[in-house]
Amino acid sequence: MSACLLTWNPEKWTWHELPELADSIKRHGPQVNRWSSGVTKYKIDEGDRAFLLRQSEDPTGIIGSGTVVVPPYQAPHWNDEKRKEGQKANFVRVRFDALLVPNDDPILPRDLLREESGLSGVNWDTQASGTTISDDEAELLEGIWQSHLNQAGFKFEESESENLADTEEPNRVRRETVRIIRDSAHSRAVKEENDYECQICGRTLRLANGDRYAEAHHVHPLGEGGEDTPANIMCVCPNHHALLDYGAIPLDSEEIEGVGSKYIQYHNRKIFESE
Ligand SMILES: [Zn+2]
Repeated sequence: MSACLLTWNPEKWTWHELPELADSIKRHGPQVNRWSSGVTKYKIDEGDRAFLLRQSEDPTGIIGSGTVVVPPYQAPHWNDEKRKEGQKANFVRVRFDALLVPNDDPILPRDLLREESGLSGVNWDTQASGTTISDDEAELLEGIWQSHLNQAGFKFEESESENLADTEEPNRVRRETVRIIRDSAHSRAVKEENDYECQICGRTLRLANGDRYAEAHHVHPLGEGGEDTPANIMCVCPNHHALLDYGAIPLDSEEIEGVGSKYIQYHNRKIFESE
């Protein structure tokens, strides 16, 4: 298992959306969010585990974990001043499966990790985001992190990497459960209004029992402060759902009916990153 440490220094950047994103993950399961991945000399790949390390300001330690779904890419800098100067930074998109809110939740203390002999090779003071750690260290850290979460009473949905090791059957059942929980009344209404046709390509999936199938996409993600309201929901096929989640395509407000223009702007600016 390859893994990297992503760092967060609250003195340099205030993460306003953290409580909302953490709450959304606790209630709805994993959420994709982007994170600065530092300089490109570190090799981060799709599928790598990522641990989020809070630095500088107490409490310091691991506050989250996830799986890299989009490897490093360049986008306008996260620092306001640098962005205005036209500077870019490297980012990854991470599917966060666990996220704690420092001061509210008990995070995994950095000092405790320092004392772990198997982790003595890790630079726990690193300020650089994206440093990689060895497979052995990653495995040990994962174990400590998961038992920390258990002891603290957190029950997060299993991470993708663990699911891949499962047989196909339980995995399929689990995914269906997640879909049902995630579908709000608004999501169902939007899908029915669109007759389960993708609002981008017009296609509908048909299941073995004859049911029509589509997915609801929150244009401004719930984990980033978006609302669960019909004007923020699109009916899409699974392919376009993934492309929207990962910011691979922009949205055209003249072609998408029923979605508020502010949500479409959010997608184009923050997720597709057209700026
Ligand atoms: Zn589609």
